[in-house]
Amino acid sequence: MNAPRHHDVVIVGGGMATMADLTRAQTKCIPDGCTWYADHVTAIEADRSVVHLSAGRELHYNDVAVCPGSRVDWDAITGAEEAVATPAAATNYLPEMAEKTWAMLSSLTAGRAVFVISERHVPCAPVGLKPLFMAADHWRRAGNLDHIEIELLVEGTRLVNHDDADRELRAAADAYGVRVRTRTTVEAVFAVSQTLRVQSAEGTDELAYDALYLAPPHRAPDWVADSDLSTDDAGGFLAVDPRTLRHRTHPRVWGLGDVATVDTLPSGGALRKQVPVVAHNIAAQRARRTMRHYDGYSVAPVTTNRRELLLAEFDRDGRPQPTVSTPDLARPRRSTFVFDRYLEPQIYWHRLLKGNVS
Ligand SMILES: Cc1cc2nc3c(=O)[nH]c(=O)nc-3n(C[C@H](O)[C@H](O)[C@H](O)COP(=O)(O)OP(=O)(O)OC[C@H]3O[C@@H](n4cnc5c(N)ncnc54)[C@H](O)[C@@H]3O)c2cc1C
Repeated sequence: MNAPRHHDVVIVGGGMATMADLTRAQTKCIPDGCTWYADHVTAIEADRSVVHLSAGRELHYNDVAVCPGSRVDWDAITGAEEAVATPAAATNYLPEMAEKTWAMLSSLTAGRAVFVISERHVPCAPVGLKPLFMAADHWRRAGNLDHIEIELLVEGTRLVNHDDADRELRAAADAYGVRVRTRTTVEAVFAVSQTLRVQSAEGTDELAYDALYLAPPHRAPDWVADSDLSTDDAGGFLAVDPRTLRHRTHPRVWGLGDVATVDTLPSGGALRKQVPVVAHNIAAQRARRTMRHYDGYSVAPVTTNRRELLLAEFDRDGRPQPTVSTPDLARPRRSTFVFDRYLEPQIYWHRLLKGNVS
């Protein structure tokens, strides 16, 4: 069993690494002191404090931290799953399709490339812009940019929840001649005719594509959505208090990561800040001490070309939350690109996965 590093799947989609570069054996990723059950959770029965595994085993717990991530929701866009099975469409939100994403984008020499970024629970959605900027830079270097029309369809109102970074990304898109359409939803993909049905404030229209990149809507795993761990207003996701990360009705259940209703952009950087809060709060609840609050910190690293990257860091209200005050990481920089590409993976494998999240 192998564990890919999601952040870097994007650079595979941008042609700067292979999946083999990013994958480690799961056994090497288990921190000391943890027992790994190589099995699937099929249900959590919170009333009995029991986790059910697919092999039939039951694990009893005092507290359980639930962190199974989210899944691509192919039902959310009619025809999208069929489309990504054709050579003209791809998503790097499925690791097995990351290399295809770059093969599709880099081989385009003329026509229309459409990039679609949903805002429905997409993990670290702005990183879906990385393939766009990496491809645009590639097309410019290859002398093809003038022959390629680039359309960016974004469901939200902004490219990222950070004013300065949003401005920078729009300027970078503008420099490549990208047509940016916000508040725009793709309702259907017609793989045979290579067209999209698009809904926006102007109404419904059709858009043809020669290459289609999707950062598609995500949903929670069925065993969470179909259980009492979710609630009507949680949309299938694990219903936690977004500050304490404790389940709203089952106080010994804790939720974090992409599956939980944390009321901010789901991201690995967000998860990194949630882990110490959950660890503290489990102990605090047992000892009747004060709980800590997660402020909704999240982060989006976005390349603006094949050399530079900006880092947007913000809380759940979109207020900047920079890790360092200088330099301003919300501007594209070569040094931030080098850090994200070469140093951050080392921190991930050798510190974060070992439990050193501070
Ligand atoms: C292409 C891509 C690029 C990204 N880039 C960035 C980035 O640059 N920066 C950033 O901060 N974030 C980025 N993210 C987001 C980041 O990867 C996620 O937010 C983060 O991995 C969420 O962690 P998680 O543990 O909630 O879910 P996951 O990372 O999905 O991990 C869930 C784990 O639970 C396991 N699991 C699931 N179901 C079960 C079950 N039933 N039983 C047992 N185990 C189960 C899975 O096998 C997996 O190991 C990116 C995501 C993607 C997809």
